[in-house]
Amino acid sequence: MPFTPLDPEHVKVYYCGPTVYDLAHIGNLRAMLTADVLVRFLRQAYPCVTFVRNITDVDDKITARARANGEDIGSLTQRTTEEFHQDLAAMNVLPPDIEPRATHNIGEMQALIARLIENGHAYEADGHVLFSVASFPSYGALSGRDPEDLVAGARVEVAGYKKDPGDFVLWKPSDADQPGWESPWGRGRPGWHIECSAMSHRYLGESFDIHGGGSDLLFPHHENERAQSLCCFPQGKFANYWVHNAMLLVEGEKMSKSLGNFLTIRDVLKQAPAEALRLLLLGAHYRSTLNYTQAGLQESRKVLDRFYRALAAGPVPDVAVPEAVLKALAEDLNTPMAIAELHSLAAQALAGDRNAAGALKAGAGLLGLLQEDPEKWFKGDRSADDAAIDALIAERAAAKKARDFAKADALRDQLQGQGVVLEDTKDGTIWRRA
Ligand SMILES: [Zn+2]
Repeated sequence: MPFTPLDPEHVKVYYCGPTVYDLAHIGNLRAMLTADVLVRFLRQAYPCVTFVRNITDVDDKITARARANGEDIGSLTQRTTEEFHQDLAAMNVLPPDIEPRATHNIGEMQALIARLIENGHAYEADGHVLFSVASFPSYGALSGRDPEDLVAGARVEVAGYKKDPGDFVLWKPSDADQPGWESPWGRGRPGWHIECSAMSHRYLGESFDIHGGGSDLLFPHHENERAQSLCCFPQGKFANYWVHNAMLLVEGEKMSKSLGNFLTIRDVLKQAPAEALRLLLLGAHYRSTLNYTQAGLQESRKVLDRFYRALAAGPVPDVAVPEAVLKALAEDLNTPMAIAELHSLAAQALAGDRNAAGALKAGAGLLGLLQEDPEKWFKGDRSADDAAIDALIAERAAAKKARDFAKADALRDQLQGQGVVLEDTKDGTIWRRA
């Protein structure tokens, strides 16, 4: 399906952001990376792009975690938001233009809820406000589900106060020890889905171009967002296109805490450079299931070694992003095809074509790759370790100077054990990671 922006002068994108109570895992990262490449590509093609990605900082999971930690909710959400920002920055994911927090938009949510009640799409029951699924004939159209199956198949909360088991919560009552805000329906807190309808409307309007997130959000979250927004603003389109990335497996299995294969971004960055993880995740088309493996991570690192060797082999001229890379990304963000093009440019660059090296750097740059200095890449990217290695090398030089060769050899062996290869030149010792 070709993409036609509502306004080619201003493209608008909304992504569901994290619920901030724990470190982001590599499944979360896949969605954030898909958004990142999408927005980088749109910026290349259109003069103005606004990218909004929210922070969900009120949620029962947050309340439960804060209680378990003996920590107040504000400090938990603040800390986790900072960790999320650090992890995405380490992954070279660009920040959104606007990052609204749910708790700063409660008034917007209440306004939408009031409007839904007024329009006959929502009702109050037992301190709750519920969306009436039966009031919206196209409910289920986004996720392609029949409303009858939705109720039968979904794990809906069965509650006596619901008119229909598929009806979902817009507002719910809070106890004294739960976060809550005064409202026409009593002190309470919003349901999760209304947050995104409120924040997308506030920052992007009734109609915007692209809404994205992981395929796990398609139902019920996105289906419910769409129902709420279209019932509030029937003259609008809500999201004109949807981008749903498929799930990620770890060594062929679904990632879960109980299987012990749950990987945070930080877990992986202890083992490999960020770009290796980035290349691995972009190596599958976003709509295909991605299998994360240790072998794949190592392979990605080797591919990047080759790409960096291609850059390091000579001067790298400043050239435009190659057409073939743009064409691949224009085809529904075909990152594997774009990466295949990088492989062929690297081969040409290694054969002596410096223009190809420039094109490799520019094309990879659009994917957020090859952003390191090649020399730094081959030394690894752990600067704290670098300082320790430099200290050992200085100690070895001093030992050699003092003709303590046994000590100098022992230091060399120690470094070798850490995977550091030394090379003595007439200008001193240089090193690289094996
Ligand atoms: Zn959302």
